[in-house]
Amino acid sequence: MTHFADIRTGLGFDAHRLAAGRRLVLGGVAIPCDRGLAGHSDADVLLHALCDALLGALAQPDIGARFPDTDPALKDADSTVFVRKALVTVTGFGFRVLNASCVLVCDQPKLAAHADRIRLRVAELLAIEPDRVGLSAKTTEGTQLALPDGSIAALVSVLLAREE
Ligand code: MG
Repeated sequence: MTHFADIRTGLGFDAHRLAAGRRLVLGGVAIPCDRGLAGHSDADVLLHALCDALLGALAQPDIGARFPDTDPALKDADSTVFVRKALVTVTGFGFRVLNASCVLVCDQPKLAAHADRIRLRVAELLAIEPDRVGLSAKTTEGTQLALPDGSIAALVSVLLAREE
């Protein structure tokens, strides 16, 4: 049995508005849609929440501090780069990712048909087995938790471990 010297949970949250003239990218996967998420980078809300979960587990500054939206070099940046850099931090502290559990909150577009592709891509980005990443796509059922004119939010929890 593996003995862990240290185990950490991390929780990340993010939300972006939908806007015309943008590509919609979730978990590093391009989703067909007439709108995309507005933001300085590619606004991949799921990967931003994932980065904050990874960094938060190690009590490190969050993605906003690490990759500021005032940095011209990060305009339309591919958020998979942020995940790769957050993973360098994780391994630098001697940890590895045991699993990730993700929730997307979105009324439009419908994401159910894309959810498994997104889940597999997140596992690939984290370099862990696909059965170590869970993803559910939820709607708000008219509760107006999402903006009426369109937004997507994401919550991600991760478990990190450092082996003895
Ligand atoms: Mg964001």
